[in-house]
Amino acid sequence: MKFKTSFVATAAKTKSEKILGVGTKQFLATDFVFDNSLKLLKFLSEPKNFDECITYMRKTEIPLNTFKLLLDHKLITNFSDDFYKKDNMQFKNDLYLESITSNPYLVEEKIHETTLIIIGCGGIGNFMSYGFQSLNPKQMILIDGDIIEASNLNRQMMFTEEDIGRKKTSVLARELKRRNSGLNIKEISKFANEDILCQIIESIDNKKNVIGILSGDSSDVLFSTTKVFAKYKIPFLNIGYLNDISVIGPFYIPNVSCCPLCHNSFAIENDSKKELFDETINWLNSRYEAPSSFTNNSLSSSLAMSDIIQFLDRNIDNIKSINNRIGIDNVSFEMYTMASSIDKNCKYCGA
Ligand SMILES: [Zn+2]
Repeated sequence: MKFKTSFVATAAKTKSEKILGVGTKQFLATDFVFDNSLKLLKFLSEPKNFDECITYMRKTEIPLNTFKLLLDHKLITNFSDDFYKKDNMQFKNDLYLESITSNPYLVEEKIHETTLIIIGCGGIGNFMSYGFQSLNPKQMILIDGDIIEASNLNRQMMFTEEDIGRKKTSVLARELKRRNSGLNIKEISKFANEDILCQIIESIDNKKNVIGILSGDSSDVLFSTTKVFAKYKIPFLNIGYLNDISVIGPFYIPNVSCCPLCHNSFAIENDSKKELFDETINWLNSRYEAPSSFTNNSLSSSLAMSDIIQFLDRNIDNIKSINNRIGIDNVSFEMYTMASSIDKNCKYCGA
């Protein structure tokens, strides 16, 4: 194994402070640590094996724990994909994945083996499929029966005026392939329901490496997705927004976390008893139009990407939406958390 100074390593000094790194790994260093770190980082401008590092540190009287300190703070990397600058799509992804995961090799390998079922190809489906295309998943299955309308163009960034009237799945597949010609994409230009989802999952050889990304705007598709994904024990994440709050979760991971309908914690199943029927409520809700825009769509998509990457890194403790519905206020950035838990008797995911 070889080590090299990471491209994300930085150093700065003010009159009173010496700082190494940037972002969550940044730390204040004493003069002694700072100077030794800079020497070691300079030495590692080219890849060296561990023995060479030890020899250098002994010779220059740099304490051996300096190496570990810089490795832990990701100023030194052993991720060889990040050793040299590359003019390709992976390069910046590699740097980012190394910054946010414990094992970027594992995460990339997992993505290459993963089939993503993207249910809903509107704003969130656009952002999520775009986000994943440069990571080269094994396959992307795009499901949506909708056609592109002019009112979609404020957020569904893969579509243009010329695409109005065309199928969302076809245009999205076309645009994704324009960006990454090697992608394996399957289009299902129908609205998802239980039968369609079952057929799709049945057609996948390796059902172990499948993740569902749900951004349907009706509760029916949430019910059918939950039922079918729970039946096949496939994880999925529900992504959306409640007007001006971007929302994700709960991230359903079979045998690990609750589904969105466990305990009806989020009151998704309405009480439809006849005595509670109210014509005015019905009228009001039937004319509801979601204020779908760039901010609420892109923010929830980014939150979802982050949690899915942590899932692929097998870093369960870092997944914020496990047993939680997480919301971010688009104005105050306040975070809301609504907790739930596994309901053993859940009629959707219970055994
Ligand atoms: Zn459940």
